Amino acid sequence: MFQYKDLEIWFSAGSQHLYGPETLRQVSANTQAVADFLNKAGLPVKLVFKPIVTTPDEITALCREANYAANCIGVITWLHTFSPAKMWIAGLSILEKPLLQLHTQFNEVIPWDSMDMDFMNLNQTAHGGREFGFIGARMRKPLSVVTGYWKNKKVQEKVAIWMRVAAALHAEKHLKVARFGDNMREVAVTEGNKVSAQLKFGYSVNTHAVGDLVGVISSITQGEIDALINEYEESYTLAPCTQVNGEKRQNVIEAARIELGIKKFLEQGKFGAFTNTFEDLYGMKQLPGIASQRLMQQGYGFGPEGDWKTSALIHVFKFMAKGLPGGTSLMEDYTYDFTQGNELVVGAHMLEICPSIAEGKPLLDVQHLGIGGKDDPVRLRFSAKPGPAINASLIDIGNRFRLITNELETVKQPHPLPKLPVACAVWKAKPSLDVSVEAWCAAGAAHHSAYTQALTMDYIRLYARLHHIELLEVNENTDITQFQKEILWNEVAYANS
Ligand code: MN
Repeated sequence: MFQYKDLEIWFSAGSQHLYGPETLRQVSANTQAVADFLNKAGLPVKLVFKPIVTTPDEITALCREANYAANCIGVITWLHTFSPAKMWIAGLSILEKPLLQLHTQFNEVIPWDSMDMDFMNLNQTAHGGREFGFIGARMRKPLSVVTGYWKNKKVQEKVAIWMRVAAALHAEKHLKVARFGDNMREVAVTEGNKVSAQLKFGYSVNTHAVGDLVGVISSITQGEIDALINEYEESYTLAPCTQVNGEKRQNVIEAARIELGIKKFLEQGKFGAFTNTFEDLYGMKQLPGIASQRLMQQGYGFGPEGDWKTSALIHVFKFMAKGLPGGTSLMEDYTYDFTQGNELVVGAHMLEICPSIAEGKPLLDVQHLGIGGKDDPVRLRFSAKPGPAINASLIDIGNRFRLITNELETVKQPHPLPKLPVACAVWKAKPSLDVSVEAWCAAGAAHHSAYTQALTMDYIRLYARLHHIELLEVNENTDITQFQKEILWNEVAYANS
């Protein structure tokens, strides 16, 4: 998997030769100073200063080199002076990486007493940036614009969001999703066109025989298993039946072997995400529970029942959110509490919820699972931290991909679930349970989603925009009548996306 520290974003100012060499020298020095400052400001990806570009050929060369530089994940430009935008057409038409216009000024405040025409020749963002905006719009480029003084924290936060989304797009383009088994039989929403997904998002999705995975699981040594069980004992509270000499201890040993085997398989094949299905576990003793949970926590995408779209989305969200507070997990709408005025959704899955969203120390437990016909699987039990979160579901609507989000407020689990041994999150859906569900179903969103406490809609909107995929948002302001019209209109707006 990629590391943020290995990635870079190129930073260059656009100008022209109208103002003489002294102005260009100053533009260059200022751009370098801004890059140096921002690199010390704690942004997630480093900025690499590139010489200013002043002619169509220089601009085109910059864009061409950015395309071919393996670690360059995007370009930031600053129209410090006016840079006539027809000069940018050739370059922008080939640029394949995300582009941000930093609409800033070297000076924060206007020097009212000293400002003269030399100052105006040097500092032209207010109009130069708008000329650049026009060509972005004219070329239908998904240009991002961040406006404000470069030392301002809010400006840096917006740049950081863009950087993280650009980094996630880069990781997504190189993502390999391994599928163990096909989709759960007869399930519709987890299906989709894998070629279309690769064309749109860049990731590949391929099937690998469960027997090959079982071969790797069988190769795990007792020493490796012992070390992992030590880690379990340090990280979790162990239910009595799972402790040394407990009646289910052997299940824990087997679960550790499965976790190590899946991880080894994923590492050997450089996979960043995987799926499995309880209908195809041939040769495995348990459905992987704790394995999927812990691998998600390490950044792997996971989708149950062959759900490769959710698996890939979880990996992408996790990569975007690396180092941010709050977790990201697979989620499934499990059941409702229809108490009037306090309607709740319980989100869970039969095993595979990521402990990155947990409040407190998870309980490692072994309990019977009514489907799959295998040994009782090991799972981590916990409830999710209260606070705001988002559910996101990616579906294949036939001629395109559609992303649907629902903002929600996770609440403290009101009652224990002594007889339902799963990890769960309990939330209030926005704007209300009924409107949320009616909108979700009208949009065709799945019962599986990527649940994230770490990302805000700013990240997800930018992700959708850079991919030019349809995004339907269910939130505090959702009106169901309007939402249904939006679905209808989007048939035209996204017909060729
Ligand atoms: Mn499911």
